[in-house]
Amino acid sequence: MSKNVYDKISIKGLEIFANHGVFPEENKLGQKFVINVALYVDTRSAGLTDDLEQSVNYGTVCHQINDFLTANTYKLIERCAEELATHLLVSNPLVQEIDVEIEKPGAPIGLPLETVSVKIHRAWHDVALALGSNMGDTKKYLDDAVQKIDKLKNTKVIKVADYITTKPYGGVEQDDFLNSAMLIRTLFTPNELLNELHKIENEAGRVRTIHWGPRTLDLDILLYDDLVMETNDLTIPHVELHLRDFVLKPLAQIAPWLRHPVYGETMAQMLAKLEL
Ligand code: ATP
Ligand code: CA
Ligand code: CA
Repeated sequence: MSKNVYDKISIKGLEIFANHGVFPEENKLGQKFVINVALYVDTRSAGLTDDLEQSVNYGTVCHQINDFLTANTYKLIERCAEELATHLLVSNPLVQEIDVEIEKPGAPIGLPLETVSVKIHRAWHDVALALGSNMGDTKKYLDDAVQKIDKLKNTKVIKVADYITTKPYGGVEQDDFLNSAMLIRTLFTPNELLNELHKIENEAGRVRTIHWGPRTLDLDILLYDDLVMETNDLTIPHVELHLRDFVLKPLAQIAPWLRHPVYGETMAQMLAKLEL
């Protein structure tokens, strides 16, 4: 899921008087904060048309920053930065990635200093998920899962593939599966997302007994941007993505161009190989 290289709109040195801090006096008296923000946006069409609607209005963003940081009180500037980044990404759909830096030049540490700051980078992530069910009302399990994923915090369902009936995989004698795949956009990290998917599986009454055995609902992360990672709990891309027609078929239906970041082939190419 290769990322575009975006253009950058910068806001530097925006001064805001607000009440963030660990000490009660800071929350009461307030102090100056200085905000630097970089908005990563594709400005090409605004550049060609001279139309503000095609870009992000930095004046509006400055007011959003001021309103947000004066309406809320946090102890840590880490939290200010996190919440502000989320707020700006959600409020400005054209912004794909953001840098947020919060400086606190009057930080009460009892020593002279120029400033102290926290800077973070946050982005929307494009993720492909696999869905499967082979117990009870399989269609309802998948329908409910799609709805619940769409309702997750700062997550949007972009596309869902047709549901297909498939034969079980892995040698366990069990009922046929209903499978699908979907594309979503999210601000969750991979581990946070896995955790949310596990909660949805549990709500569907998923009981983990036999590996590859029958289940009400299985939700796997197939791809997460171009990320390649391997930990005890999570391997991305999914280790067997390239081997499973019941995953590649639905995914190739909605996103045939997606490229596997390790094997370098598109979903359509990998499916064609399996069907040989
Ligand atoms: P498979 O992963 O081969 O499809 P499964 O889906 O039946 O098998 P589960 O019992 O659902 O396996 O999951 C076992 C564990 O796999 C999960 O608890 C999770 O920690 C881990 N896991 C590793 N990579 C992924 C991934 N990409 N998506 C979902 N779970 C993963
Ligand atoms: Ca699985
Ligand atoms: Ca799983």
